[in-house]
Amino acid sequence: MSLLEVEDLRTVFHTEKETIYAVDGISFDIEAGETVGLVGESGSGKSVTARSLLGLIDNPGVIETGSIRFDGVDLTEGHWDEYRGDIAMVFQDPQGSLNPVYTVGNQIRETLRIHRGLRGREARRTAVDLLERVGIPDAPRRVDEYPHEFSGGMRQRAVIATALACDPDLLVCDEPTTALDVTIQAQVLDLLKELQREEDLGILFITHDMGVIEEVADRVNVMYAGEIVERAPLDELFDHPRHPYTRGLMRSIPALASREGRLPVVEGEVPTPTERATDCRFAPRCPAAFDACTREHPEHVDVAEEADEHTAACLLYADGYDHAPDPSTVFDDGGENA
Ligand code: SF4
Repeated sequence: MSLLEVEDLRTVFHTEKETIYAVDGISFDIEAGETVGLVGESGSGKSVTARSLLGLIDNPGVIETGSIRFDGVDLTEGHWDEYRGDIAMVFQDPQGSLNPVYTVGNQIRETLRIHRGLRGREARRTAVDLLERVGIPDAPRRVDEYPHEFSGGMRQRAVIATALACDPDLLVCDEPTTALDVTIQAQVLDLLKELQREEDLGILFITHDMGVIEEVADRVNVMYAGEIVERAPLDELFDHPRHPYTRGLMRSIPALASREGRLPVVEGEVPTPTERATDCRFAPRCPAAFDACTREHPEHVDVAEEADEHTAACLLYADGYDHAPDPSTVFDDGGENA
């Protein structure tokens, strides 16, 4: 049994105008002690996935179908409150995650009170310990400072300390380093890895940045327009990307782009899914699209090269499409990964 098992999760938003299928039937799992990446552009449904896991979907949003099993218990059957502290979240914006009118220590102590029943000196001592653990220098003094007195990197460390105050088994990190400069970003990623080793934490790491995914993930799910379109262990994905969208994201990694002189972005924008898919949602942006792509919804097929569990939802790799284009004529890697 995995720490987290998400099965066919569908989270939709019923507005007056339309229904938005923000998360449309995704499945993935996370083991204790591993980092699973969820990568895609803004608007792919990554953050709605994160909020779904924590039971934070508000009206007009609703989890329409699927299950979210944590330690074997389906949270969607009304069990979120029982596991509230076991799954903690670190958001992108540390400034917005901390309340500016309370000291950092107050905010950690409040979490300790709610989730671990700690008060008074014990709570203060634990808050200082947590700040020291995440690398805040002079923690006994800084515990009484306000968020604006912390630098951006220190604020994100404080947010991580607050998340750890719940003593979680699973950390959901939603673009936790996007607002930070490169040096601080590397420090925060190292900190997360260290905490994971110490605590056997499962981590869901959400980002738009393939370069960051390469640094942190053990396995990767690539998300596009509410769906997971490719999943694989990290090395397999980077050595043998198959889905045209994944290939496009790879080209946006600065080091690869400059080395190979490739275009840095996938042209076009992620569509907002307003109906169940009857086609490939990536077709309008796909350099390999052929006629069937606008009529048929691709299911995941096995595309493993060197590892198990590598699948892609793309008709190029499905049986029965003999007239699909030859990838060697479409992709600028000469189709070596086709
Ligand atoms: S199914 Fe067709 S449009 Fe979709 S990614 Fe594959 S080739 Fe491109």
